[in-house]
Amino acid sequence: MDYNCILVRYGEIALKGRNRGVFDSALASNIRHALTQRGVSFKSVARMQGRFIVESSDTRALEAISKVFGIVSYSPAIMVGGFDELKEAALKVLKAKECSSFRVTAQRLDKNVKIKSTEMNENLGAFLVGETGLKVSLKSPGVNVGVDYTKNNHFVYTESFGGLGGLPVGVSGKVVCLLSGGIDSPVAGLLLMKRGCSVVFIHFLHDESKVPRKIVELHKILSDYQPRSKLILVPSASLEMEIVKNVPSKYRILVLRRMFMRAAERIMVREKAKAIATGDNVAQVASQTLDNLSVVSESTRAMIIRPLACFDKSEIIELAKKFGTYEQSIEPYVDCCNFLLPEHPETRAKLSDVLKVEENFDERIIDAMMEKVCVIADKKE
Ligand code: ATP
Ligand code: MG
Repeated sequence: MDYNCILVRYGEIALKGRNRGVFDSALASNIRHALTQRGVSFKSVARMQGRFIVESSDTRALEAISKVFGIVSYSPAIMVGGFDELKEAALKVLKAKECSSFRVTAQRLDKNVKIKSTEMNENLGAFLVGETGLKVSLKSPGVNVGVDYTKNNHFVYTESFGGLGGLPVGVSGKVVCLLSGGIDSPVAGLLLMKRGCSVVFIHFLHDESKVPRKIVELHKILSDYQPRSKLILVPSASLEMEIVKNVPSKYRILVLRRMFMRAAERIMVREKAKAIATGDNVAQVASQTLDNLSVVSESTRAMIIRPLACFDKSEIIELAKKFGTYEQSIEPYVDCCNFLLPEHPETRAKLSDVLKVEENFDERIIDAMMEKVCVIADKKE
């Protein structure tokens, strides 16, 4: 179908009590950004009676829209002025399809328009039967000819695709997210974007001599879902050395995580973010028992959000595949944590014990790490 626009539908139920204007302008701006980021040509993104109309016939516009949170569904459509043009467009669309039956499903977007949707269904349906000889089947049509209309515009379409749902990125404020090279943390970041948060990613880097290609590639995928995505690389070799020197092996990962949190808290404040997110998952590995997670939480006063706390690994993998991060996540990578993994980790750490082993720890190391952070902005800006 040669469409000249895309009808974008968004969830109104989710908007109850929310600031509708803020939601609308964030969504419009995110759609525009997704298009320009990919070099997609478009004339306009305009709001029309509970829809956004994206005027573009570039096939890549659909791909761009499929990655914008806050959209319930979208349809490539032909936009025309009056009813006569609508008849021609609908006929062309129907003739292009191989089918033996069809139906018209019209929706009046503006209740001030006189012609009701039932009349529109009947009038257009009768015209199409007359021209094509096809049967009308209301229950199982070969093609559903959708028509949305206002006083001055008619849109005809035959396909609707499901959007990502959720809220537009930006309406809920900012969080920082600890991004490892694994499967979980990219998904955690994406779920926060889905709730309208813009996410600044932080990665602690074992080998600061080279830019970690895998992490940069993962961030490129994540930056498809939010405007102006930022990745902050924090070299952590000196921290790891300090831990190896001063901390018994069974506590090393825990102390490392606690120091991650302290560093992340500083970045959170700098970025004016409101929380720290991780890809932690209750009981998945030794460092993620409730005891250990709680000891990690005690290292900061910042709010910690763990969006994946209660997901099964198979559910997380499914989401990673849906969002397109999975393939990159399973690439091999030497994380700083691999390096510190003890044979017998503590699974039921007590805060008092951990505080004791941290006594010799020199926190100025964290100040020094902060001096060396490297910021990677979205490649497409
Ligand atoms: P993931 O698949 O996200 O790596 P995981 O199940 O492998 O998670 P861990 O390796 O124990 O779990 O890490 C738990 C969380 O700690 C990660 O989800 C991430 O948020 C954070 N994290 C771990 N390593 C790093 C790192 N090098 N840089 C930033 N965050 C990290
Ligand atoms: Mg990991």
